[in-house]
Amino acid sequence: LVMVALYDISEIERTEKMRVDFIANASHELKTPLSTFVGFIETLQGPAREDEQARDTFLQIMKEQADHMERLVEDLMSLSRIEQRQHTMPGDAVNIPELLEATASLLTPKAADRNIKIKIKCTSDLPWALGDQAELSLALNNLVSNAIRYGHADSIITLSADFVQNPVDDIYNKKNGAIQIAVQDQGDGIAPEHIPRLTERFYCVDQARSRKVGGTGLGLAIVKHTVKRHRGALDIKSVEGKGSTFTVYLPCA
Ligand code: ADP
Repeated sequence: LVMVALYDISEIERTEKMRVDFIANASHELKTPLSTFVGFIETLQGPAREDEQARDTFLQIMKEQADHMERLVEDLMSLSRIEQRQHTMPGDAVNIPELLEATASLLTPKAADRNIKIKIKCTSDLPWALGDQAELSLALNNLVSNAIRYGHADSIITLSADFVQNPVDDIYNKKNGAIQIAVQDQGDGIAPEHIPRLTERFYCVDQARSRKVGGTGLGLAIVKHTVKRHRGALDIKSVEGKGSTFTVYLPCA
């Protein structure tokens, strides 16, 4: 008698590779600004010691790099916090119209810088969602921030919420329906080949552009993990030249 045990380890290997890539990317992202600091500090201690103009320029660049590092570390911490809680279902009842209002008012000044208006479309009698208030607030903030960054100047962002009776996806307690939250922008849109990869950590369609608008490449990974923890769903639709719609489905409370 010969017994053969076969295990499919492709999933384990894939997860392991993602973890290794993630550490490599995160280290690289943090190392780059640090190298700039070291170079500038040495220059300011030596050759540019008395050069007031160089000092101002270098300090300005160092400030921008430090701000970027701070955003990166904050995003990394948020991501690991969500991942740590991945296996416990959130338990708050969340008032979605209030969440939309709060997000819109927080980001209105940023939108106004680009003359973008945020419009809210939802009824106040919407059922409450089952979720974690803080995590959902961060995820929505990321989606609307992206809409502001990648939307056209002088355009409109529409933030809407609706009840869906028969959600298609594998949503927790789906017989009770789901809450659908959509963030729609009027921007350049995203080419179809990029869409499946957008939620990967550090994935950027255009790294230079993302960096210029203050991106870290982690915003949508945070959204994806939040939605996953909520046992909801995320859908991304985009028409090139017109704009994109990011839709989050959440279970009802
Ligand atoms: P980033 O910090 O680079 O914005 P994200 O994870 O939030 O990182 O988004 C990943 C990439 O997806 C972005 O670099 C951008 O190319 C693309 N993207 C995200 N949101 C939008 C949007 N609303 N319109 C167009 N492209 C978008």
